Amino acid sequence: MTDPGARAPLAEQVEQLLADGGELTIVSAGDPVLRQGTEPYEGQLAPALLERFVQALRTTMHAAPGVGLAAPQVGVPLRIAVIEDPAPVPEEVRLARGRVPQPFRVLVNPSYEAVGPARAAFFEGCLSVPGWQAVVARPAQVRLTCQDEHGRPVDEVFTGWPARIVQHETDHLDGTLYLDRAEPRSLSSAQAMAERWNQPTPATAARALGFALPDGEA
Ligand code: ZN
Repeated sequence: MTDPGARAPLAEQVEQLLADGGELTIVSAGDPVLRQGTEPYEGQLAPALLERFVQALRTTMHAAPGVGLAAPQVGVPLRIAVIEDPAPVPEEVRLARGRVPQPFRVLVNPSYEAVGPARAAFFEGCLSVPGWQAVVARPAQVRLTCQDEHGRPVDEVFTGWPARIVQHETDHLDGTLYLDRAEPRSLSSAQAMAERWNQPTPATAARALGFALPDGEA
């Protein structure tokens, strides 16, 4: 049930965010908006405002640069995220991580469930935790249910890197950061990532730092 009285503030907040045009400011870990969960989108933003907000999320994601961005990351507690990954990576990385191009998508009210028991573990990072990466073991394949930006239902299975992006962004909408699911001993600075852990898989890092990978991982 929607409280009509609660609608105006959210729309006003988004109008104010968009007033300056261009990129939005990404909030960092420690801001409660990243931890408090989100309201389902139920028309709180009129169609034209929703379209402008989605475009601003996309512009901000590109500028960061990132491959996904959730509304709470710009301070808006709505269940909306965008994803897009041109996947400009070497062939060996593409094969190891399943990092195939993911066209731009808007996820409205998304949720996911694992498909099968397989898990994949790789380093990932977050625009709200700048400067760090950590290894997260996640379901290798997930079923996403949501709506698109026009309210049309989506029910689709994602694999490889796109499955990871879908999970990471949907988790944001539940107030979960990737660090909550990460191997703590894998935590690595941008410098360590560049100098040491640029292999296609985290196997070398696992041995050197002393953390476990799921069964079946090299
Ligand atoms: Zn993130």
